[in-house]
Amino acid sequence: MTDDLGGDPVCWLDRVCPECGLFLDDRDAPCPRCGHEWNSSPAT
Ligand SMILES: [Zn+2]
Repeated sequence: MTDDLGGDPVCWLDRVCPECGLFLDDRDAPCPRCGHEWNSSPAT
């Protein structure tokens, strides 16, 4: 029961602001809601 969505949660979780939970389409820009900046290196 860990894949009930049938998708890739990690894919979009990577785009959700850890500070306020706002979904961001562009991680290159700071969160418009709380100003959180994505300083972490890309997972490549
Ligand atoms: Zn935020």
